[in-house]
Amino acid sequence: MTKPTFTVCGKSDLILVAGAGGFIGGSLVRHFAERGFTRIRAVDRKPLPEWYQRTAGVECLCMDLTDEAHCKRAVAGAVEVYNLAADMGGMGFIERFRIMCLRSILINTHLIESAYRAGVARYFYSSSACAYNTKLQADPHCRALKESDAYPAFAERGYGWEKLMSEMFCQEYAAERGMRTAIARFHNVYGPWGTWDGGREKAPAALCRKVIAAKDTGADMIEIWGDGSQCRSYMYIDDCLRGIDKIMHCNELIATPINLGTSEMISVNELVSLVEKIGGVKLRRKYILDAPKGVAGRNSDNTMIKRVLNWEPSIPISRGLRPTYQWIEQQYRDRKAGRKTVKDTI
Ligand code: NAD
Repeated sequence: MTKPTFTVCGKSDLILVAGAGGFIGGSLVRHFAERGFTRIRAVDRKPLPEWYQRTAGVECLCMDLTDEAHCKRAVAGAVEVYNLAADMGGMGFIERFRIMCLRSILINTHLIESAYRAGVARYFYSSSACAYNTKLQADPHCRALKESDAYPAFAERGYGWEKLMSEMFCQEYAAERGMRTAIARFHNVYGPWGTWDGGREKAPAALCRKVIAAKDTGADMIEIWGDGSQCRSYMYIDDCLRGIDKIMHCNELIATPINLGTSEMISVNELVSLVEKIGGVKLRRKYILDAPKGVAGRNSDNTMIKRVLNWEPSIPISRGLRPTYQWIEQQYRDRKAGRKTVKDTI
C-alpha cells in the first residue's frame, strides 16, 4: 500500500464553511476551531439566532448562497472552501420537495466558480449516497455500494441528481481548470446537533425523538415508516468530520468521489431496538407502509477509502447512538420548558 500524501493549509489561513448554520457545517466549524484554526468564516442562509451551533471567534454571516454576489463575498480571501450548504432532510423531505433539492445546484454552481476566480486552493463538496444508482438498492441486503456504482446513473430523483451533477462540476473544474476539488459521498450522518424534529430529520434522530416522546407521554407504541426492513449504514458525526478533513487534504483524492460512511448495515427494526435499549423501554411498533422510506437497502463499500487513506469511519451505531439520544432528550426537555432548541422548518 502506498502512503497517501496530505497538503494542509496554515492555521491562520482563511477557511470558509458554507451551510455552517446546520448540523455538519456547524460541527465542522467547531472541529477546525478546536484544531487551532484562527480564521474561519461561517455562512448560512438562516438568520444567526437560528444557527444550530455558534463557535466563539468565528466570523458568522447570513447569506443566501444561491445568489452569485453572495458567493463572491463569501469566498473572498479564503484558502479552503467547504460546501455543506444544501436544502436537505430525511426521506420525508427529499421525496416531497424535489424542486427545492434540485435548486441547491445553484449553491455549488456559484460557489465553485467564485472560489475558482478567487484563487481558492482547495474546494470540498458534500455529496451523498443518494447519488448512487437506485436500481442497485432494491433489496434490503443488496451488496454495498462502491464508488463506480453511481454510473450508469439512476440517482434518487431530485436530491440525488443534484448531488451527481454538482460532483461533475467539481470533477470538471479539476480537469479543465486544474482546481483542487474533493468530493465525499456521505452515508447517513447522525449525532448531537442534528435536526431532530420539524420534517427534515433523518431516521436515527426521528426514532430517538419518538421513543423519548412515548416515554414522556406514557404511550406504549411508536410509528415506524415502512415495514422496518429497510437497511442503511449510519455514520457518527465525529467520523464524518475526521473523514472530511482527510479527504479534503489528500492529494490522491483530487476530484475523486469517495464513500464516507460506515459499512455496518442495520435494519430500521434493529435501529429501533437499539434506541429502545438506550431508553430502557419496549414499545409496540405500528408500521406506516405508505410513508416515505427510500430505497430498500444501502451500505457503503469501504474498499477504496481503506486503500487510499488506510482509514474508514468505524464508530459503531451502538456507541454513537447513546450521546445522540441523550442530546435529543435534553432538547426535548428544553423545548417542553420553553427554552431555545435546535429547530429547522420546511
Ligand atoms: P443541514 O440541513 O443541517 O445543513 C445544511 C445547511 O445549509 C442549513 O443550515 C441550511 O440553512 C443551509 N443552506 C441551505 N440553503 C442555503 C443557501 N441557499 N445559502 C446558504 N445556506 C444554505 O444538513 P446537514 O446534515 O448538515 O448536511 C450538510 C451537507 O451534507 C449537505 O450538502 C447534505 O446534502 C450532505 N449530506 C448530509 C447527510 C446527512 O446524513 N446529514 C447525508 C448525505 C449528504
